[in-house]
Amino acid sequence: MMLPMPTTLVGHDDQPARDPDTFPDSADPSGPCPRCGRVSNFSVIEPPLPVSFKKDVFFPGGARVSYQQVSVLECNGCQDRTVIIEDQYVGGVRYGGSGRTTWRGFHWWPTPGAGTFDPVVPAPIAAAYDEATRCLSAGAPNGAAALLRNALAHIVADKGTEAANGKRDLSDKIKQMVRDGGPLGALGDWADHVNLYGNAGAHPEVYGDVTPSEAAEVAALTRSMIDLLYEAPAKFARRRAERGR
Ligand SMILES: [Zn+2]
Repeated sequence: MMLPMPTTLVGHDDQPARDPDTFPDSADPSGPCPRCGRVSNFSVIEPPLPVSFKKDVFFPGGARVSYQQVSVLECNGCQDRTVIIEDQYVGGVRYGGSGRTTWRGFHWWPTPGAGTFDPVVPAPIAAAYDEATRCLSAGAPNGAAALLRNALAHIVADKGTEAANGKRDLSDKIKQMVRDGGPLGALGDWADHVNLYGNAGAHPEVYGDVTPSEAAEVAALTRSMIDLLYEAPAKFARRRAERGR
């Protein structure tokens, strides 16, 4: 039988460990909820719906063999459901030939991260981050990393000093913002990390492909930067205003 083979296979063990940083699927029903944004556990709604079938392999009796399915997971927190398209992995290999069968998500609806920012976050930053999460959920880690770097560039443009923004490229701006100090400077290591992977995502021919787990890590780091620099201070200011002092 001839089945399409994946071009990249990175870090896929036979059975993925529970990872609270990755979006949930039927093999690992835990992680950030695309609905409420909280890290949660999920109930898998049975049965999954097969959507794509092998053309030349059949079960005894003629039943079709699927290699892509739709799973629906219910968040134990908000009780809403997320739709996930999953690929079949056999023995840890996508569409593989022998071993244990598991299913792994590669597309999520609703799109994780979209529209979950506090209104205080500037639109260009939220837009770049949201587009990056759409790339992540569609299995495009290079694009995600490049867009997260773009979100970082908007953060530096917004929060950086005149000296930092006077520099030509982003890595020099980051060096300057570390020298300038303040909340943005304290996150210099994180900014370097996002910048590094963003460059790799934009130039995979030079640096090699960004893996899905690397892109997810860069997204989590960028999300934390946005929270620390924008959302947490705004929430604190609102609470203080509510208390009247
Ligand atoms: Zn939820």
